[in-house]
Amino acid sequence: MGQGLSCRSSEEQGLFSAVQLGDLETVEAVLQRDSTLIHRSTVYDRNSALHIAAANGRIEVLSLLLDRSLSPDLLNRHKQTPLMLAAMHGKISCVRKLIEAGANILMFDSLNGRTCLHYAAYYGHSDCLQVILSAARSSQVAASWGYSRFVNVRDSKGATPLHLAARRRHPECVHMLLDSGALVCASTGGYGFPGSTPLHLAARSGSLDCIRELLAWGADRLQRDASGRIPYTVALKYHHGACAALLNPSSAEPLVWPSPLKFISELNHDAKALLERALMEANMEREKAILKGTVCSLSSPLGPDSETDDNVSEASETDLCCICFDQICTIEVQECGHRMCAQCTLALCCHNKPNPTTASRSIPICPFCRSDIVKLVVAKHKTENDRDRDINSTKPRKSWRSRNSSEGSSSFKGLSAVGSFRKMGRGSISGRILAENEWLDKPLSLDM
Ligand SMILES: [Zn+2]
Ligand SMILES: [Zn+2]
Repeated sequence: MGQGLSCRSSEEQGLFSAVQLGDLETVEAVLQRDSTLIHRSTVYDRNSALHIAAANGRIEVLSLLLDRSLSPDLLNRHKQTPLMLAAMHGKISCVRKLIEAGANILMFDSLNGRTCLHYAAYYGHSDCLQVILSAARSSQVAASWGYSRFVNVRDSKGATPLHLAARRRHPECVHMLLDSGALVCASTGGYGFPGSTPLHLAARSGSLDCIRELLAWGADRLQRDASGRIPYTVALKYHHGACAALLNPSSAEPLVWPSPLKFISELNHDAKALLERALMEANMEREKAILKGTVCSLSSPLGPDSETDDNVSEASETDLCCICFDQICTIEVQECGHRMCAQCTLALCCHNKPNPTTASRSIPICPFCRSDIVKLVVAKHKTENDRDRDINSTKPRKSWRSRNSSEGSSSFKGLSAVGSFRKMGRGSISGRILAENEWLDKPLSLDM
């Protein structure tokens, strides 16, 4: 009997190694000899062959095991599913396959009470995160649990996937989660320091990119954790100087991208991308002004600065935005068809920190004709023919100019601020060599 046991365990061992190596032939041969081996698991972690295939990204073996009608939701010692392990190791094809095979995306492990979404966010696999999120949109989870509840699912310490992505410095995941409705100001229970928001955790990990994303989505710099600390204090404690400068409540507020579909019912995908880019660009300029004394060299996530300048120099005067006279028109307002640059559109649609008293803001209006903006699209560049035709048609530009001089518009104040920030940022940053610890000498005053 002893011999039988050891023989079986060596067959088992052979199966697990073959699965790990993705050796499909051996896996098939072993299962041919003893099909019950498919239900065995490793001694300590109790991982099944399916877990091992998922964690190692062995898609052929995984498919074979699933074809043998193995349930995709097997549990190991820590109640982890194969899907969690695939999400942890970023094995995107296995994540897809398991979800196709009906894996439940709403299972909780027994380690920290985390779901596969937590795993993808924690380990920064944005591709896996995306697949799980789209599965959540269409699966039963959306019907039974609600999609936004799933996006904000908490682990046993009250951490949402957004908390984990911010703590682990994964700006792409942070962006994706926020775009999917993750609550930017949620506080943890016991994860990290109790009562931490994603912004506290990003401050602690020192991720400027995560902080940028969170601030652009309206994260509150003044929200306190259970110990009464604001994110600024946390960044200082962990010596993240540049982060602290952005988080300092006395530094300029970044532009905030409100829930994009809140005010405008239809936002074309390309137009949204343009506006997001403009928002990040405007905030980068603000940052330059805020951080001009810090050692941190800011690498623009948007590529070389020169790009927009090139566009401006190539554009003819008819394409120039007549609100700021600085950028070319890239956005067209519909129904009226008036055009302006992305920055100016942004300043119209976005406002600084959402104010609870003005939360129920009305739909933004076109600054040229004052009609409601119902849709924004990317403006197509005009051909010579179009321009000729334009001469005979209405010229919104002129009417705006005259209107601008006669009646002040509250929305315009925001716009000119954006424009001047761009110039200010550019001028002040160039040609200045900074001492290493210069920013430390500056009083980072905090009105509290
Ligand atoms: Zn403009
Ligand atoms: Zn208009």
